[in-house]
Amino acid sequence: MKERVTFEKVRQYRKKLKVVLMPLEVARLHGAIAADTITLDPRSRIPLAKTLVHEVIHGIYPLWSEAQVVREERRLWNHLTWRERAEAWTWLGKAHVWNGEGRVPEVEREPIAQQEVVGEQAV
Ligand SMILES: [Zn+2]
Repeated sequence: MKERVTFEKVRQYRKKLKVVLMPLEVARLHGAIAADTITLDPRSRIPLAKTLVHEVIHGIYPLWSEAQVVREERRLWNHLTWRERAEAWTWLGKAHVWNGEGRVPEVEREPIAQQEVVGEQAV
């Protein structure tokens, strides 16, 4: 049976996560999640709130394949109301801008080449 992601699940789970904005050029990532931290590349042309939702889904379902996460993220994002999308943008309000401090967090590498690509977008 295929599980469906709801906005409420994403809303609840993301409360446990810290968001860091930093360049992820090495792996050509738009975003990544490791432990309780999501990293997002602010230079990405994909809306950051959408990538954030994508990474939260990875957090909720760590065993899901990239393709499955992409599919559910797309389905969820396309069905959000404008208000829900607006709320997802507010989650970025407390994001931490990486200052070069500490180590670059270990991220789950998701090379874009291995991901489902639609149009010009890879997530
Ligand atoms: Zn992913």
